[in-house]
Amino acid sequence: MEDCIFCKIVRNEIPSQRIYEDDRYLVFLDISPVNVGHALLIPRQHYADVDSTPPEVLAHLAKIAQKIAPAIVGATGAEAYNITINNGAAAGQMVSHVHLHLIPRFEDDGFHAWHGRKPYGEGEMAATAEKIKEELDRN
Ligand code: 5GP
Ligand code: ZN
Repeated sequence: MEDCIFCKIVRNEIPSQRIYEDDRYLVFLDISPVNVGHALLIPRQHYADVDSTPPEVLAHLAKIAQKIAPAIVGATGAEAYNITINNGAAAGQMVSHVHLHLIPRFEDDGFHAWHGRKPYGEGEMAATAEKIKEELDRN
């Protein structure tokens, strides 16, 4: 049995405000929301991150997100939403159970997820694209 906070939520060992569930997936409100209504969508099955999640599970997560996010927008009066996955600690993943953030957004809500973008140096953009394509070819 996984000693994971989201697995404990799945097993009802930790209480949560559930907004959707079926036999394989669960959506509950984030305890520390960017905006009211911020929710987390998870598979009941424990996968640590995107890399270890089967593609069909990821596809199903996308399908559920497409249904739930507009309902969050409708219920909160939001104008838009972010669907975000933090994958790996350096990307901000704190809980090692794959999850999608469904975040209702307002024009001036003060949340800036992508602060600090950097310009490419001379030739760096093309070289980077090349390196990534080589990496794809290796797999
Ligand atoms: P991450 O940083 O891993 O992408 O996101 C983890 C999220 O889980 C955070 O936004 C955090 O607020 C939320 N979270 C952590 N512990 C709990 C909990 O016990 N209950 C709920 N509902 N959310 C939690
Ligand atoms: Zn887990």
